[in-house]
Order: sequence, then C-alpha cells, then structure tokens
Amino acid sequence: MRTSKYLLSTLKETPASAEVISHQYMLRAGLVRPVASGLYTWLPTGLKVLKKVENIVREEMDKAGAIETLMPMVQPADLWQESGRWTDYGPELLRLEDRHHRPFVLGPTHEEVITKLISSELSSYKQLPINLYQIQTKFRDEIRPRFGVMRGREFLMKDAYSFHLSQECLNNTYQDMHSAYCNIFERLGLDFRPVIADTGSIGGDASHEFHVLADSGEDDIAFSDSSDYAANIEKAEALAPDTERGAATAELTKVATPNVHTIEDVSKFFDVAAKDVVKTLLVLGEHEEGETAPVVALVLRGDHELNEIKAEKISGIAAPLTFATDEQIKAVANCDAGSIGPAGLAIDIIVDRSAAVMADFICGANESGYHYTGANFDRDIHNYKVEDIRNVVAGDPSPCGNGKLTIKRGIEVGHIFQLGEKYADAMNAGVLTETGKNQTLTMGCYGIGVSRIVAAAIEQNHDENGIIWPDAIAPFKVVIIPMNMHKSHRVQETAEKLYAELTAAGVEVLFDDRKERPGVMFKDMELIGIPHAIVVGERNIDNAEVEYKNRRSGEKSLIAIDEAVNFVL
Ligand code: ATP
Ligand code: MG
Ligand code: MG
Ligand code: MG
Repeated sequence: MRTSKYLLSTLKETPASAEVISHQYMLRAGLVRPVASGLYTWLPTGLKVLKKVENIVREEMDKAGAIETLMPMVQPADLWQESGRWTDYGPELLRLEDRHHRPFVLGPTHEEVITKLISSELSSYKQLPINLYQIQTKFRDEIRPRFGVMRGREFLMKDAYSFHLSQECLNNTYQDMHSAYCNIFERLGLDFRPVIADTGSIGGDASHEFHVLADSGEDDIAFSDSSDYAANIEKAEALAPDTERGAATAELTKVATPNVHTIEDVSKFFDVAAKDVVKTLLVLGEHEEGETAPVVALVLRGDHELNEIKAEKISGIAAPLTFATDEQIKAVANCDAGSIGPAGLAIDIIVDRSAAVMADFICGANESGYHYTGANFDRDIHNYKVEDIRNVVAGDPSPCGNGKLTIKRGIEVGHIFQLGEKYADAMNAGVLTETGKNQTLTMGCYGIGVSRIVAAAIEQNHDENGIIWPDAIAPFKVVIIPMNMHKSHRVQETAEKLYAELTAAGVEVLFDDRKERPGVMFKDMELIGIPHAIVVGERNIDNAEVEYKNRRSGEKSLIAIDEAVNFVL
C-alpha cells in the first residue's frame, strides 16, 4: 500500500474528548472516527487490525470445534418476550418498530435467536453437543459510552453458544472454550488473566471473565500473590464474608435487593424526601457546570437492566424520567468537589448492585475525575473512603487459603458462562433422548469483545510516541520510509525496489511515498505503530545499505539492501 493512495488520516493534536490513551491514539493514528456517542467508523488502518483480531478468534474457535454461523442483528420482540428478557433486560436494549408497528430489538446478545434455532433444527440427542458461534455487531444502549470503542454502543462481539444433554458434557465444552480463549489472548500477545466471575442474578453455575491487565480498566480483579487464584473482585469478596469489606457487602446487599426498588425506599435510605428526588431529576437538567446550587443528583447509571425496573417505578411519580448525561454528572460533581453538605450532594444509586460494585464504582468515579463525595455512603452505610475500599480487599487473606490478595485493574475482554437450562426451558428447546423422552437442553455461552480488544491491546502496547502493535495484529508489518525521495532518484529507485520485493513476498508493507519531510513521516509511522521500519536514505545507499528500525525496542541497525527483505520476513 502506498500512502499516496491510502487514507492515512493521522492527527497531530490529541482530541480533548479522549480520556484514555487507547482512545487518543485510535483517533490520532486514524483508526476510528466517531459518528455519534458510542458509534464509530473504522478507517482502513483500524479495520485491518480489527480483522486480524477477528481472524485469530475465528481460527481458535474453529480449532476448538465450534461452527460459524451468522444471526441477524435485528431481532423480533416476541423472542425476547418468550425468554422473559423483554421486561428484564432494561434500557440497554434498544427497541424499535417496523412500518407495521411490529416491535423489534437491536441484538445486544443472541441467546434467544440461537435457542429458537436449536429448538427447531435439532430433534435427537445424536446431534449433540453442538457449539455455534458468530462474529456479529451488537448494540447496547450503554448509559455511559466511553473510552472510544472500549465501551461503545455498537461493537463487534464473537459470541458462541453450546448445547448439551448433561452437565458433564457442558463442563467439557466449557473447558475447551476456556483453553481456546487462553490461546486467543496468547496469540494476540496480550497480558491477560482468566478470573472467576460472579454469576450474579443468573446464579449457581460456573463463569469466568478474561481480563487484559491495564490501569485504565473499569474492573478490579483480585489475585493471590502465591497461588493461581484470580477472581473478579465481586467474587473474591463474596467468598470472604467475614472480612470487613465482606460485612459491608452484606450490609449494602440489604439495600440492594430487588424489593428496595421503590422511590420510598430510595428516599428513606438516602434520607431525602421523595419529592426532592423527583425534583432532582428535573433540576439536574438545568444545572450549569461550576454552579453550587443545592442539588440532589439521582444519577441512575451503570449498565443496567434493573435501571428500567427503577425507571418504571420511579416514573410513576417522576414522569418523564430521563437519565443524567455525562455532562450533567460532571456538572453536579463539580459543584461539590471536595466539599460536602449544602453545596450539593451527588448520590449515585445503583440499587441493584452489590457493595463490591458500589465500591468499584466509587473508585472508578474518582479516578475518572468525578468527585462523588460519598457523604451519604459514609453516613448511611459505612465509613469507607475510596482508598479504604481498595485496601480492605487488598491484603485479605485470599479465599483460596493461599497467600494474600492484591488488586489490579482489568479490561473485560471475554466472558464464558454456564447458563444451564434458563433459555432452553423458557423457549422449549429439547431433544429426544435415547429412551425416547423429551429432555430440555443445557447451555453455555461464550463472548469475546473483538472491537474492545483493539483498544485493550493499545492500552498495553504504547509509548509516548504512539502505538506499538503486537506483531499478530499490526495493520502493516513493515513501513518503507524514503528520505527526500522526490529529490533523489536513487532513493526512489531503492524504495520502489524494496516495496516490490516485499509485496511479492506477501509482506504487508506500507510505502510512505508522500512528499513529506522525514520528521513528519517518522512521527506518523511511530504513531501508527508499525513494528518494522526500513529507512532509505542517500548516504546509506552509497554503502548499498538501508537503516532498519524496530518500533518496540527502538533499536536501529544498518542492513545491506539485498538482505533487507529477508531481514524483516
Ligand atoms: P461490561 O462489564 O464491560 O459492561 P459485559 O459483562 O456487559 O461487559 P458481556 O455481556 O459479558 O459484557 O459480553 C461479552 C464481551 O463483550 C465482554 O466481555 C466485552 O469484552 C464485550 N463488550 C461488552 N460490552 C461492550 C461494549 N459496550 N463495548 C465493547 N465491548 C463490549
Ligand atoms: Mg455491560
Ligand atoms: Mg461485565
Ligand atoms: Mg461480562
């Protein structure tokens, strides 16, 4: 590829909207462009990386015996009514109508469609087990899309669904998927950890998340310092109920059970009159950044299914209910930064979540620059400050009994789950067994955030000059940088020759044939993060040499022009 015939689209300035490094570099290196909140166009360079991630995922899924399929992104509402998630899923589910006023959803996940398919396609135990996957665009109307494609509203996911007659059979496939995921993240060259995950409301069965370690991650994960134990922090904590933080969990869980989802309970808990809570939602919209008006902010946020339940209940009193926007949250947060009391009160109610998540949230909120002062948490719940919350967990003995726990931040890039009979039961998916009886299927589901991985990889692989791609997912393997090619015939000739040879050898090579100063070219190519650079200059040609530069190590060396192709192969 020649840059003159390509869409390079690099930016010199860091866009102000981008908080984390991967988002900044994805914009600056010309990988993506925003279209609307949480919606992105993948530019050619970004798409090359995305496709590479996708292919590694595909190859390892195929190797593990999963079969590729493709389901529609738009799904009829009746499937969701059948599974019960039409009411349970909440506002992340984008609902729409066709011209005949028939309701549809944009698929945030595909359990319903696949279970329906299986129930009609399979009839005999002989067809089991089966594991089907797809790589498909999902839509989740995230309340706070952020960090670029890391938490988009439209994103690319690999999702697989396996069906079985026995728990034992499900366990086997689950293990196969666990191994396939490890292979995938190893091939991607990422520092990752599988962690035991909380199965939450679905309950009971096994679940693991795969986290890429990075400070910008939104999740806390707990490791034992002397065993393999690693768990999502909610799980680690649930296993250690007699710790201080465990006790706090129990306390908060009391207010976090579904029966407190009423405006009265919320207002009682926070000692705020119900009508004020209502008012808050209205005042919030008018609040200016920097103002110190006495504001109570009821910020409904998080991912959350149950927001809708709350929304329904609250909207009885407070219709129309709107969720606070990012700007509004910031405005409220700014009005009481550091000081509590009459100036204002930012209350974040995640009624449906555990204390651990609440703690997580407080940490996250502070780190992202929002000051949730925690006055109410302190008074009504316990006296934890952000640091306390982290410290209480770190240094608890590890639930596995081995060593102490340390906490690190992680980006959830994969999640595998034993679903049991939940969907098969609701949607009548069964087959005839050997003895002719109809038996409900047992199911597992396995997700990977393909587009999120691109951002996560950058979080782990960059320096102050830009991205440093792991070889496996680099958009180009080699870049040819000719110095002042338009002034030197010899440089042009040599660069063209190398370009032709590399192309013929099947190497993905970018030839920077722009009429730019060498400095501009170097900066751009470092920003884009191409692993190997060949610099062609007048002086080195005198010795029949070119300069080689390695993006990761920064190491430079002179190599004979004749050996350049073999050198980078
Ligand atoms: P999160 O906790 O980050 O909201 P999740 O637990 O809701 O993710 P899953 O339902 O487990 O997500 O989906 C499988 C995978 O899809 C996740 O592990 C993650 O890698 C990816 N994913 C989920 N939501 C998003 C998003 N909004 N943008 C990009 N990738 C996402
Ligand atoms: Mg989510
Ligand atoms: Mg999650
Ligand atoms: Mg998950």
